[in-house]
Amino acid sequence: MSAVFEVEFEQPVGEACNTRHAWARVPAEPSRAERDVLKDRIRRLLVERNAVMVSHYYVHPDLQDLAEETGGLVGDSLEMARFGRDHPARTLVVSGVRFMGETAKILSPDKRVLMPDLGADCSLDLGCPIDEFSAFCDAHPDRTVLVYANTSAAVKARADWVVTSSCALDVVSALKAEGHKILWAPDRHLGDYIRRETGADIVSWQGACIVHDEFKALELELLKEQHPDAKVLVHPESSADVIALADAVGSTSAILQAAQRMDAKTFIVATDNGMLHKLRTLNPGKTFIEAPTAGNGATCKSCAHCPWMAMNGLANVANALETGAGEIQVDQHLGVRARVPIDRMLAFTAALKKGAPVGALVAGMGAV
Ligand code: SF4
Repeated sequence: MSAVFEVEFEQPVGEACNTRHAWARVPAEPSRAERDVLKDRIRRLLVERNAVMVSHYYVHPDLQDLAEETGGLVGDSLEMARFGRDHPARTLVVSGVRFMGETAKILSPDKRVLMPDLGADCSLDLGCPIDEFSAFCDAHPDRTVLVYANTSAAVKARADWVVTSSCALDVVSALKAEGHKILWAPDRHLGDYIRRETGADIVSWQGACIVHDEFKALELELLKEQHPDAKVLVHPESSADVIALADAVGSTSAILQAAQRMDAKTFIVATDNGMLHKLRTLNPGKTFIEAPTAGNGATCKSCAHCPWMAMNGLANVANALETGAGEIQVDQHLGVRARVPIDRMLAFTAALKKGAPVGALVAGMGAV
């Protein structure tokens, strides 16, 4: 990447990624009695409003459990996108961050998509403004443009492909086999990981996730010494030296599968600690420990929680359903353009799941 992009990149990230604003908007934890009242209210409103909850693994356990209990979904961003598109409910309540709500709206333009807090951002999305990203693309016209789902609708509209961490390696491997050179954005660690794993020719935007960027390899090694039998599960938005210590690397869904598949009793988990709820629920006999984000003497040994994910709570879900607040809007023309690379990803992953050939989907990147 040329220096100019690195310089331009730093400014919007530094300004926009001030997480103090995000933490200030995290709702207070309700009492047990308040939680019960809010859950009953949400259950009633979901029926009255013909709505379904779609929650990410990183949000509060209450929102994960309630989504599943009421027929909704807890999943990674790929699963959320597919579920929201295919579910017959007229309203989707997306507990996660804004790009997830936008993706749901792009795939279901006729549905109402509500979010508990429209201010729930993502450092990757904030760090990849469309004007600078377009200039980056213009500087590399010979490359196929792949963007992570953690981007704005405008950035997706500029891309050839959208991918999530659960399908990025498969898509890039298939593109490489067809001779494509890749322009990747925005997560630098995930881009490096894909390059190492596939050997593809990739130039990468230099964004980072403020949560995964914080895991520390040295501290992780020390923690491993304390738990010599533990297996280490790492999300690929983490740095290369952290990934190098992993027994399994993958998306949130892949981490869940690895924890169930591996016969270890103890796991160290390098991803947002919202994941621990599902990991512990599905694996009652196993122990899950948060990977360290700082060394001895730090005020917080593990601060692995996304402030924007933490903005989602029972009270603002109930309020969104009651009042219609937090409705996601995506410009119609932008949405049509952004849908093309998202549909391409969904068609690719569906074909892969069925064992169908994917070559035609990547060769000319034709209609999906
Ligand atoms: S955990 Fe990281 S990648 Fe996920 S929404 Fe938060 S900042 Fe974005």
